Amino acid sequence: MDCIFCKIIAGEIPAVKVLDEDLVLAFMDINPSSRGHLLVVPKQHVENIFEISEDDLAAVTSAVKRCAQAVKEALKAGGVTILQLNGKASDQIVPHFHVHIMPRWENDGLSVSQWEMKPGNMEEIKEIARKVQEHLS
Ligand code: AMP
Ligand code: ZN
Repeated sequence: MDCIFCKIIAGEIPAVKVLDEDLVLAFMDINPSSRGHLLVVPKQHVENIFEISEDDLAAVTSAVKRCAQAVKEALKAGGVTILQLNGKASDQIVPHFHVHIMPRWENDGLSVSQWEMKPGNMEEIKEIARKVQEHLS
């Protein structure tokens, strides 16, 4: 399979690793959006949140929490943005599930978490919530 993160996991291409566990690998992003930007991935290849197993997701989530804490302390960051994309429509580029951990500082100019805050239509919001609930049950 021609997956760049599988190649990193297999040791076929280099990466700057920070955590290597049975189910999970964490390594530095080579195009960092902020100082300390790193990625956490399951070793089992899956593309996205819709495919990942509950066990792998639990292992990734545990690693994300520990890596976020560690990078925040190491770099004395003011905060940490956690980002995870699913599908081309969400701007996912690498089709192997991964969680971005991005250390943040006040006024660092990173715009990843800034959308226009304008009030939605409450009738539409409630209708969408009702449809989502139908799919949850
Ligand atoms: P996305 O799929 O949009 O969530 O982002 C993929 C991320 O993977 C980007 O932030 C890239 O910089 C990063 N990336 C791609 N190739 C590598 C690599 N060989 N080592 C580390 N990070 C990578
Ligand atoms: Zn892969």
